[in-house]
Amino acid sequence: MSSPQPSHPPTIRSELQAASAKIHSDSPRLDAEILLAHCLNKPRSHLLAWPEKKLQPEPFECFKQLLQQRIAGQPISYLTGSREFWSMDFAVTPDVLIPRPETELLVETALARLPNTDLQVVDLGTGSGAIAIALATERPSWHIIAADLSQAALKVAAKNAAQNNLSNIEFIQSNWCASLPDKRFDLVISNPPYIAAADLHLNRGDVRFEPPQALVSGADGLDDIRQIIPQSVEYLKNGAWLMLEHGYNQSHTVSRLFEGTQGEQQMEYCQHYSNIESLADLCGHRRVTIAQQLSENVIVNHD
Ligand code: GLN
Repeated sequence: MSSPQPSHPPTIRSELQAASAKIHSDSPRLDAEILLAHCLNKPRSHLLAWPEKKLQPEPFECFKQLLQQRIAGQPISYLTGSREFWSMDFAVTPDVLIPRPETELLVETALARLPNTDLQVVDLGTGSGAIAIALATERPSWHIIAADLSQAALKVAAKNAAQNNLSNIEFIQSNWCASLPDKRFDLVISNPPYIAAADLHLNRGDVRFEPPQALVSGADGLDDIRQIIPQSVEYLKNGAWLMLEHGYNQSHTVSRLFEGTQGEQQMEYCQHYSNIESLADLCGHRRVTIAQQLSENVIVNHD
């Protein structure tokens, strides 16, 4: 005996309605549309144009599977394998942080503060390569090193660079500055991990599925920034910038770290950073702090 046919074959409309009711996120309908469009290999506008269209077995199966994973909390970007940043498509996997719109402030700041000339740049903790690739696209004359400790992340970043036909990025495995070439740069830029280990935000939403080593940085979230600031001194030319993204409430502490003051202690590197400035994103959160290496002790290397 053959199994009974459902009285209503699945259509785009019926499946979107049913799926939206099952997803518990901030945007259930949008999530359902993105996943269905992905399985149909069509833009979302196709769903609006053809709501009565019947779903063929293959895209229907694909959608059912992705829907189950979304209901279990998996981020949309890991399910579709891509995320937009700086109006470009980036491949993402669970090996990398999903690029955030707020990180565009870091890219904008670098583009605004540095000249469009032949510069040496390093992106520390590149992840998917979002920052390095956005900069390399906007500034073909910059030579960019994209560094990450994770080989898996470097693979994703290299794939993204190749997809965008970029040849001005070099990929290096490095624990912050530890394995960088022995030279000085015009810009060191980084979106490091900066969330405090006990932050409850880590138990909610997409971040539960992202690599903890890209998110979490010790008890106050600043362990990695505490390494990057002093290490970068040796890699910045005189007049060069270090630009860091950090948490919305960390700008004061990060500025103090640039000044080299930690409690009563005055750190040795403090004489190296000047023009410390925190910049606000579109929501008014100071999420980026920049400082310039302006030290009379620095031997300027012109190579
Ligand atoms: N901004 C991200 C978040 O709060 C964290 C990114 C990071 O740690 N670099 O989810």
